[in-house]
Amino acid sequence: MTFPPDSGPPASGRLAERLARLIAASGPISVAHYMAEANAHYYGTRDPLGAAGDFTTAPEISQMFGELCGLWLADLWLRAGRPAGAAYVELGPGRGTLAADALRAMRAAGLAPPVHLVETSPALREAQASRIPAARWHDDPSTLPEDGPLLIVANEFFDALPVRQWVAAKDGWRELLVTHRGDAFERVPGPRVPAPYDADPGTVVEASPASVAVMGDIARRIAAQGGAALIVDYGHERSGVGDTLQAVSAHAFADPWREPGERDLTAHVDFQALAEAARAAGADVCGPATQGDWLKAMGIDTRAAALAAAAPARAGEIAAARDRLTGAEQMGKLFKAMAVVAPGWPRPGGF
Ligand code: SAH
Repeated sequence: MTFPPDSGPPASGRLAERLARLIAASGPISVAHYMAEANAHYYGTRDPLGAAGDFTTAPEISQMFGELCGLWLADLWLRAGRPAGAAYVELGPGRGTLAADALRAMRAAGLAPPVHLVETSPALREAQASRIPAARWHDDPSTLPEDGPLLIVANEFFDALPVRQWVAAKDGWRELLVTHRGDAFERVPGPRVPAPYDADPGTVVEASPASVAVMGDIARRIAAQGGAALIVDYGHERSGVGDTLQAVSAHAFADPWREPGERDLTAHVDFQALAEAARAAGADVCGPATQGDWLKAMGIDTRAAALAAAAPARAGEIAAARDRLTGAEQMGKLFKAMAVVAPGWPRPGGF
């Protein structure tokens, strides 16, 4: 891992100062603008994953997660008649752990596709290259190959994409904008937006136009080229109300409105909005199911037993990882899995 040379004020100071100057010069910015700048800096300058970082994800908890994602794709591809030219695609691959585990499981099923990673962070691209040297990288889905089925995985990708927020003020809906005061940023109601007013004053609603756009892009490709996408993230099955934007630092919740670029900013994923975008683009949708139900239907208990039998000294650790991924009080219920599939392809497993 390389970091930018340590010169001048800390980079966080530079981003906070840059945003404060921008706001002073041209007025408050959207929540989405703030979140996009903060996360571009945050992911661009570090590897935030794991015990020594800020948060841990399912593939970093256990190899079983990536293996079952790979088996899910390989099973669909086999039942689709082993179409030629399929590519493995991952959105926001982190350290490349999920991809490495998925590709190993896929090879065991007779599928060894070329690898295309959509990743904007230079620091994480480097981590991914050390695990998957033959991968090709993309800034966004527009440059993905156009000549074969796409087998896509996105775990904890959509939660990092920017959201806009609106508040029900006394006189109608207003977009929440971010301004700068003292040593922190804060949200203030912006101009009124014409929308039917049917909420209690103070209600906040969110939308992630960036997520809907990416979902539409990959669903359109899947509908045209064949293939499927597995989307796993934390969030809700139905669109709802509420401010879900949160910051995490060193495995604890933090204030999203301080130190932009030094904390991980995420929001709950609106699976209904993603499903509608995928269907509008011509793809079929299965789920969402809870992560716990999906992993159990995909055979995580059998896989955990096989791993424990092969390494008895690690049996406790393997069972604990399985429980963490599937337990209702842990990741099993809050996290959801949703499939986007090309019309005419078989029904995917686990739903
Ligand atoms: N999927 C990995 C990492 C999740 S963290 C895991 O489960 O461990 C979010 C990932 O999305 C990181 O790799 C981050 O750099 C990437 N990312 C965030 N915003 C992005 C964007 N706008 N475009 C592409 N990648 C992005």
